[in-house]
Amino acid sequence: MKLADERAELCGIGRKMAGTGLVSGASGNISVRAGDLVAVTPSGMMLDRMAPEDCPVLDLDGHLVEGERVPSSETPMHLAIYEATGTNAIVHTHSTYGAVVATTMTELPPIHYNTLVLGGVVKVAEYATYGTPELAANVRAAMEGGIGGGGMHAALMANHGGVTIGGDLEQAYENAVLLEWLCGVYVRARTIGEPRVLTDEELHQVIERGLTPPHYPRR
Ligand SMILES: [Zn+2]
Repeated sequence: MKLADERAELCGIGRKMAGTGLVSGASGNISVRAGDLVAVTPSGMMLDRMAPEDCPVLDLDGHLVEGERVPSSETPMHLAIYEATGTNAIVHTHSTYGAVVATTMTELPPIHYNTLVLGGVVKVAEYATYGTPELAANVRAAMEGGIGGGGMHAALMANHGGVTIGGDLEQAYENAVLLEWLCGVYVRARTIGEPRVLTDEELHQVIERGLTPPHYPRR
């Protein structure tokens, strides 16, 4: 079986995501790249009920290489992100606070310095219908930039959810947990007052202190 370890890893992270409430039902999808191949979660399946063979393997152009099931409908977005960043893993969720911020804001104001772990201020990609090349292009654009110019490791998707990347699946998952935590802090803070937002200077001071924002492998 091609990408056996990676497909098993998708199942493990899928169970973890369902367990921590980052996804509910069959919402959300994840993928991992090994060289020129990508293993992705199947369309319409609960992320905590998959077996490795349920996860199709594709090449980077989206051609099916192995597997019986239909790849996730959000596969065009995953492939566009791999092409743009050269990263190794992608996690897409409909997590609650991420969706709340993505429905009301054009970016997640930097209320905590750990936003730098995701590359800087997280932007909300413009709305487009799920699964379309337009949405893939919008998300790709939202992941450009970042505070050091090395590229964002997270984006929110208007009226939809969030997406994070990482050097491996575990890291992409941890970034998804962090994104949801940051959105949760912001939304809850808004319920008791106007959150104080960190200035550019304050964020740069954190970088000087040693927190280096990530950058894409291709940069
Ligand atoms: Zn989605």
